Amino acid sequence: MTGSAVLKKTNHFIGGRTVSAKTYTLPVYDPSNGEQVAITPIGDDKIIAQAANSARRAFPAWSAIQPAKRGRIMQAYHSLVAANSDEICSIITKEHGKTMEDAKGELGRGLENIEYACGISEHLKGEHSKSVGPDIDSWSEFAPLGICLGITPFNFPAMVPLWMFPLAVACGNTFILKPSEKVPSTSLRLAELFHEAGLPAGVLNVVQGDSTTADKLMRCPEISAVSFVGSTPAARAIYSVSSASGKRVQALGGAKNHAIVLPDADLEMASNAIMGAAYGSCGQRCMALSVVVTVGRETSDQLANTLANKVARLTIGPGRQNLDMGPVNSAVQLDKILALVESGVSEGADLLVDGRLNNCCHQPGYFLGGCLFDNVKTGMRIYQEEIFGPVLCLIRAETASEALEIVNGNQYGNGASIFTRDGHAARQFASGVQAGMVGINVPLPVPAANHSFGGWKDSRYGDRAAYGPDGVRFYTRRKTITERWLSSDEQTQIDFSFPGGK
Ligand code: NAD
Repeated sequence: MTGSAVLKKTNHFIGGRTVSAKTYTLPVYDPSNGEQVAITPIGDDKIIAQAANSARRAFPAWSAIQPAKRGRIMQAYHSLVAANSDEICSIITKEHGKTMEDAKGELGRGLENIEYACGISEHLKGEHSKSVGPDIDSWSEFAPLGICLGITPFNFPAMVPLWMFPLAVACGNTFILKPSEKVPSTSLRLAELFHEAGLPAGVLNVVQGDSTTADKLMRCPEISAVSFVGSTPAARAIYSVSSASGKRVQALGGAKNHAIVLPDADLEMASNAIMGAAYGSCGQRCMALSVVVTVGRETSDQLANTLANKVARLTIGPGRQNLDMGPVNSAVQLDKILALVESGVSEGADLLVDGRLNNCCHQPGYFLGGCLFDNVKTGMRIYQEEIFGPVLCLIRAETASEALEIVNGNQYGNGASIFTRDGHAARQFASGVQAGMVGINVPLPVPAANHSFGGWKDSRYGDRAAYGPDGVRFYTRRKTITERWLSSDEQTQIDFSFPGGK
């Protein structure tokens, strides 16, 4: 561990400036060598009250600004984030561990979300109906909610916060972000750049801390809406506590993403796609592919063989070296993955490639080579639990319908893909699969920023998906105005019947 005298201190960002804490209690590690690189505070009641006051004071003026002007600040922000992308990606790599190329990919997706928010005048355009009754017109407009809260996970230090706050503030809300305590620095830099782009003080506030801070924030009466992304147990808890107090909530949880490979698939294309989706970012993506269901004996044997060769050749090292995979994010995460790999072996799955034997495991840092299991059964822990590491499970099925039943029997429904050359089979899969995001010959079907992101079943609580059109509806409330203007000589009468269809 580095001496505490040289440790970087990460701060809160409230009212347009950094706010240092009295105590810094949480260590932040560089996963590529296991060294402590920073120390971050746990936001307490006083900090939370300061952030809530700042967001409350900023709301009236910010919500009154024309959407087109808010859109122009988003454009300036987009340029600044793009111009500073190397610095932001280095911060991501340092605290998360992912490769620089992967960090660039995540930031690219974040930039697309800012780009979507640039068009906020268009997204907030109301709906108008002329002559819904005699001399009566009606329209709907979309008003901001007030203060919104975002609680984000460690695995996308830039992209997931950027799913939330640009669109929320473009809609006229003010925002408090509580980033993951494991990767606190990226959000701070993103907030500073937003203020450089012209965002007024208090519109975006960052409060550092862990689950205790998140819990206090979501109970804060001034907050109208909560966006959460993280594990399923936390998503469930946040959904029930926040919605019970009348807050609007979208809580995105964990995943177990499946791909089905049919016998007619292009196996070289499918195996390359599977490799990137299963082992990219060390398997620590919410859309990471963790289960492949192969159909038919010949396909299953061939794919297992091809994948085993490719997994054995993965190059692994510190994220800054830009190899295939970096480390996992923490020692706790690594221990959990190792315990699950051990359970897979003891429950009888075939470990075709044992990443625990990879040379990378001798380096300091949280490294594990790619693991590949074949003949996995649905009752095994490696199938039932989210591993969130470089471990892929192969399940063998006899038919396409058996494969689909396996996918649909899982508790999660984030993403699911199929590899085939048969358009009809693909179409049937797309309509029958119980998942919110579906890929056809696409292994990571993450929707573009002008669509919306969200799973089904235990992968999401709340009825709105994140970002895109659902994001605009989540961060606003509808107001419908019905108006009548009579000419000066028209007569009116009392009418006691309900106004319908005259
Ligand atoms: P996590 O649930 O441990 O933490 C996420 C955030 O919630 C952090 O900011 C943490 O401080 C806070 N938190 C944790 N427990 C809490 C609680 N009980 N009450 C209030 N706040 C709490 O998740 P993580 O380990 O940071 O991230 C990995 C998980 O996130 C995986 O399960 C992954 O699948 C999921 N994830 C899902 C999506 C998605 O879009 N569905 C995207 C990214 C990550």
